Amino acid sequence: MQNNKPCEIYEKLGISAGVYDYGQRILEQLRPRFDEIDARAEYNQQKVLSAMQKNRLSATHFAATTGYGYNDAGRDCLERIYADTFHTEAALVRPQITCGTHALATALSANLRPGDELLSPVGRPYDTLEEVIGIRPSPCSLAEYGVGYREVALLPDGSFDYDGIAAAINERTALVTIQRSKGYATRPTFSVKQIGELIAFIKARKPGVKVMVDNCYGEFVDTVEPSDVGADMTVGSLIKNPGGGLAPIGGYICGTTECVERCAYRLSAPGLGQEVGANLGLLPALFQGFFLAPTVVASALKGAIFAANMYEPLGFPVVPDSREERHDIIQAVSLGSAERMVAFCRGIQSAAPVDSYVTPIPWAMPGYDSEVIMAAGAFIQGSSIELSADGPIRPPYAVYFQGGLTFYNAKLGVLASLQKMLDAGLVSLPDADAVEK
Ligand SMILES: *Cc1c(COP(=O)(O)O)cnc(C)c1O
Repeated sequence: MQNNKPCEIYEKLGISAGVYDYGQRILEQLRPRFDEIDARAEYNQQKVLSAMQKNRLSATHFAATTGYGYNDAGRDCLERIYADTFHTEAALVRPQITCGTHALATALSANLRPGDELLSPVGRPYDTLEEVIGIRPSPCSLAEYGVGYREVALLPDGSFDYDGIAAAINERTALVTIQRSKGYATRPTFSVKQIGELIAFIKARKPGVKVMVDNCYGEFVDTVEPSDVGADMTVGSLIKNPGGGLAPIGGYICGTTECVERCAYRLSAPGLGQEVGANLGLLPALFQGFFLAPTVVASALKGAIFAANMYEPLGFPVVPDSREERHDIIQAVSLGSAERMVAFCRGIQSAAPVDSYVTPIPWAMPGYDSEVIMAAGAFIQGSSIELSADGPIRPPYAVYFQGGLTFYNAKLGVLASLQKMLDAGLVSLPDADAVEK
């Protein structure tokens, strides 16, 4: 068989030799980092495998249940596998949890009672939680049920304001929420180690307080999870990291039996708890997605690092920067203009396996004060473990890039984003020498 040159297939995909070569030069420098990511993925793969073996996963666990879903052995097995992987007493992993916000809202409302106060020691939480908490008034918010809220902003350098946190903890403080990922904010994402230090500090001041960590986009980035460093509940979405791109819906809450049982009562009904909830035939995707998640997360991480290293030498601010250690899969690139954002997102869209022929345009999305552009061509709608990019059209004109079920797909996305900007005359490539560091 004749050997094809890799650049030929890229040329067919619309990537010029100049962009391809620039990418290859960048990639050469990234081998040691990719090796580190592979080593972490290998550890996490064995962690998941060992949980599957310990719980004697078998084909009988793939059977669909309907109706009430009593005695659903597959569902129970999946929850034990999550609990063992996260090293927690219990887990609630359900397709009935519709998204990450739903999982977080369930964890909060199940473990806060009227008169209690919720504390966020890491500043304002993710947008959608503002209505859950009642920071923005909303029917059925925690505020409506008499749960108070307090937050302590991060210090200007992005670190924890320990004095402020100590002062904010009071007799009403019942639950502390810590968001690991920066989400769409400009603060740094926290390492599991930092989260552990914060939890220890808080529990030293108030031992009975519960701590929930919003782990969205963080799963399997490190070899430890927030549940390994004292979180009572670790919460996330199955259409992000732990679903491995295969889970079509779902959320998880891993934690203490006490907290998780309450979550189950809140999700279904008091008295019913975890005993109900048919799996509707989704379990094979949930098991297999969890099995694949460590390597899928590794691919997404490599894509994010590749993007940072491609765009930083071109003069665009990138967060995290090209060398920093990663604690989630999100890459922000500040492009400085609306035109570049649009071109970037068109490139990402053109690299997708689904809807690659679609042209993303900025639109006025409900709940945002500026137009938003999004690129996503995903097998699962809204899945952001799949290759995607988005951002509000306003200074600093930053796009948030994430996902890629395979590194090669993410690589094509990054190359195509640069190609589209180049074609529109919005950027120029450095000389070969300038790339060397
Ligand atoms: C995605 C995300 C959420 C909410 O998840 P949805 O599935 O979109 O509801 C919450 N917190 C963080 C940090 C996230 O990234």
